[in-house]
Amino acid sequence: MVDTIYAPATAAGRAAVAVIRVSGPASGEAVRTLTGNLPKPRQAALRTLRHDGVALDDALVLWFQGPASYTGEDAAEFHVHGGRAVVEALLGALSALGLRLAEPGEFTRRAFQHGKLDLAQAEAVGDLIDAETEGQRKQALGQLGGALGRRYDAWRDLLVQALAMLEAAVDFPDEELPEDVAARARPGLETLKAEINAALADVARGRRVRDGFRIALVGAPNAGKSTLLNALAERDAAIVTATPGTTRDVIEVPLVLGGYKALLADTAGIRETADDIEAEGVRRARVWAEEADLRLWVVDAGEFHVKHSEHHAIVRSGDWLVINKTDLVAPTVVAAIREQTAELGLHVAALSAREQGADPIRAVLTDHVVQALSGAEFPAATRIRHAERLGEARAYLERALAETDDVELAAEDVRLASRALARITGRIDPEDVLDRVFSSFCIGK
Ligand code: GDP
Ligand code: ZN
Repeated sequence: MVDTIYAPATAAGRAAVAVIRVSGPASGEAVRTLTGNLPKPRQAALRTLRHDGVALDDALVLWFQGPASYTGEDAAEFHVHGGRAVVEALLGALSALGLRLAEPGEFTRRAFQHGKLDLAQAEAVGDLIDAETEGQRKQALGQLGGALGRRYDAWRDLLVQALAMLEAAVDFPDEELPEDVAARARPGLETLKAEINAALADVARGRRVRDGFRIALVGAPNAGKSTLLNALAERDAAIVTATPGTTRDVIEVPLVLGGYKALLADTAGIRETADDIEAEGVRRARVWAEEADLRLWVVDAGEFHVKHSEHHAIVRSGDWLVINKTDLVAPTVVAAIREQTAELGLHVAALSAREQGADPIRAVLTDHVVQALSGAEFPAATRIRHAERLGEARAYLERALAETDDVELAAEDVRLASRALARITGRIDPEDVLDRVFSSFCIGK
């Protein structure tokens, strides 16, 4: 017997309207008890909700007869006034009727179980709820539309065709079949391997859209990193002082650049230090800087000596050198720094953060992020979970392609590759993976 569940679908707190969702076999009975009768399915009806003879609220009531509902079960929605007392009264009434408060993600989990969504689409529901930027919204919506699932289904079709040929070669001795039937499986497998390779190469971009493009500010104490960070963040996230070494840990601020989420970090002045706490800050800063997608090496134009700098070891070709405090030096000094650093292959920007603020740097960063991420809204994978399964599938494929003698072994590897792909959309996934996917949801989704 399946429970009937309920939960507020809208955020807690005072609001004009709150939506309470119900799903499960007892939904219709609950609507009838609270409103007197069932409205026409999928049509809004204005009803007074009553429980134990007491009026709770005037509500807009929607009744969905399964399977034509979000979850695929009988379901209902009550749109009530958003006051806390109203919501609590209705939740109390639903509980008294024997319904159970939903677990986080349980509505979407039921939708998955009834075949309304695949696992990747269910994840996209969570991503869409969390989306804060245009890039995140487009990516989640594409995934929710099933773009990802369709791609995997097409890949599994290729595998099934290859498997059919390999199994035919195993099951029927050669007299009945053309000799090369096993070899005919090869082109499809090669195509698939190439597509999975391309998808894996794109995973990093897809994850950057979802989680944010990481930009590290590195440079000696007092170079102006915190000043730039605050100007970019348009608030005082980092403490700006004239004492070197004040920024001890990694301070991360989220930015939106060209419609994409970015994370900007002010790393503590990376240098040798005797202080334990400071050393830990330096270590974390170094890791953050090394793993970032882009580094901005901020230097004080008046203090720069490339030979004395530890930071040129951290930056890579393609990163940016930001020559700051140009208000303090003659243009020839800036030209000299450009010359000294030419061999590092860095892009160079020169400015006075004090006089110009962050606008010149914001423009540079926006171009960089847009170039790096545009077109990545519809990747084949947006999560580590997807990338792991893709990597597994590729490994099995490679083994199948390398197996030239034993067709049976090759067929088994193709079967394993297909399972790995199937786990991304959850067609055959064990419960624990489902728990992991749905537990990150909030209640009512
Ligand atoms: P950080 O240690 O790299 O984070 O450097 P801060 O941002 O804390 O800046 C150190 C000092 O340099 C502060 O006193 C800032 O006001 C000053 N400063 C930052 N940018 C400029 C600039 O463009 N010109 C001048 N003259 N001073 C600046
Ligand atoms: Zn600082």
